[in-house]
Amino acid sequence: MSSFPENQHNFDYSNDSFDKGWQNDDSFGENTPSKGRAMAVPFVLLGGFCTTVFALVVNFFINVFADFDPFVSLLLWGIVPVGAFLFGLVAGSGYGITARLLQFFPAKRFIILIFVLQLIMFFVSRYAEYKIAVVFDPNPPGFIEVYQKFVEGFAWQGKNGNPPIPLGKLGYLLELATAVLFSLGALVGLGTLFGISYCSQCKVFMRKQTQFAIPASAKRKKIKKKDIAGQEQLDRENADVFKRVTDYVLKIMERLNSDEHNNVENIIAMLAEIQKEASVPAKELQQCWHQLSFDLSCCPNCPNFSLNIRVAVTNAQDKSTPPLTGLLSVLYSDGQFKSVEGFGKIGSSCKF
Ligand SMILES: [Zn+2]
Repeated sequence: MSSFPENQHNFDYSNDSFDKGWQNDDSFGENTPSKGRAMAVPFVLLGGFCTTVFALVVNFFINVFADFDPFVSLLLWGIVPVGAFLFGLVAGSGYGITARLLQFFPAKRFIILIFVLQLIMFFVSRYAEYKIAVVFDPNPPGFIEVYQKFVEGFAWQGKNGNPPIPLGKLGYLLELATAVLFSLGALVGLGTLFGISYCSQCKVFMRKQTQFAIPASAKRKKIKKKDIAGQEQLDRENADVFKRVTDYVLKIMERLNSDEHNNVENIIAMLAEIQKEASVPAKELQQCWHQLSFDLSCCPNCPNFSLNIRVAVTNAQDKSTPPLTGLLSVLYSDGQFKSVEGFGKIGSSCKF
C-alpha cells in the first residue's frame, strides 16, 4: 500500500504553511483544508514531553533504589537493549495519545522531529543524572570524565560466578543503541495513528463503520503429491473462489468510479450485500488460506470515507499456502483511489 503523497512544503514557520508543514494533509481538490490543527503541535509536544520525563524519572529511580539499569540490563540476545525500547514506548505514549485526542495526523517530518527530540532528551537525562550524582560533591569531576567511565564500565554479567566482563570502548556502541532504541520506541505511539483513516478535508480521524472478511481461497486441504487429479481439483476450487472475490472488488471499484453512485450509503449497501452473500463463520474463515477483508471508515463531519480492501494470508506460518500473485489491495479515500495493487491490471479501466 503506497503511503499518501508527501506534501512538498519546506520548513517555514509562516502561519499559512505551518499547518501544512507538520501535517500530512494532501491537497483536497479545490477545498482548502481548514486551519487549526497546527494549534495541536505544542500540545502534542507537551504531552510527549510529560510522558518522556515520567519514563526517564522512573528509570532513574529504579537505577538508584534497585541498583539496576533497566535501559541496558534488559538485553535481548545479549546485545539489544530492549529495556530502552520499552521505556521509549512509555515515553512516546504521550505524543500518540495527545495527537489522537486533538485529531492531529503527523507528517513524516514530524516523526523525524520527535525521533531527534527523544535522542536529545535521552542525553539530557544522562547529564541530569550526573548533576544529581555530584550535587553534594564540593569538587565534582567533569561530566565527560564521569560519562566516559560510566559508558566504558558497562559490563556483561559473568556466567557461572565469573566476574563481569567490562565492554570498554564497545560500551559506546551499546549506549548509542540504547539511545536509538529509546527514541524508536517513542515513535510507536504516533505510528499507531497511521493505522487510522484520516479526513484531510476536516482534519479529523474517521470512525470505523464496517469491517469484515470473506474467504478468498478454498478451504485448506491436504493432498498427496501423487494425487494430481486432486491437486487440479483444488486449484480449480481456489481459482473459482478467487474469481468470485475479484468480481466483488471490481464491482465496488466500478461503483467508486461512477460519479453518481460513489456516496457512502451506496457503498455500505454493497458491502452489506457482499457480507450477506459470502461471509462464513469465523472458524471456517480460519480454514481458508486467503481472506479478503473490507474496512470502511467514515468522516464524522463530511461525506468523505475511506475504504480499504485487501487480500491477506490467514496463516503466514502455513507452508501449504498457495502463493499470491503479489499483494492485492485497494485503498480509496478522499474521493479517489490512493492505491490499487494487484487488482490494478484487472481494474485498469479505472480512472485515477
Ligand atoms: Zn471530513
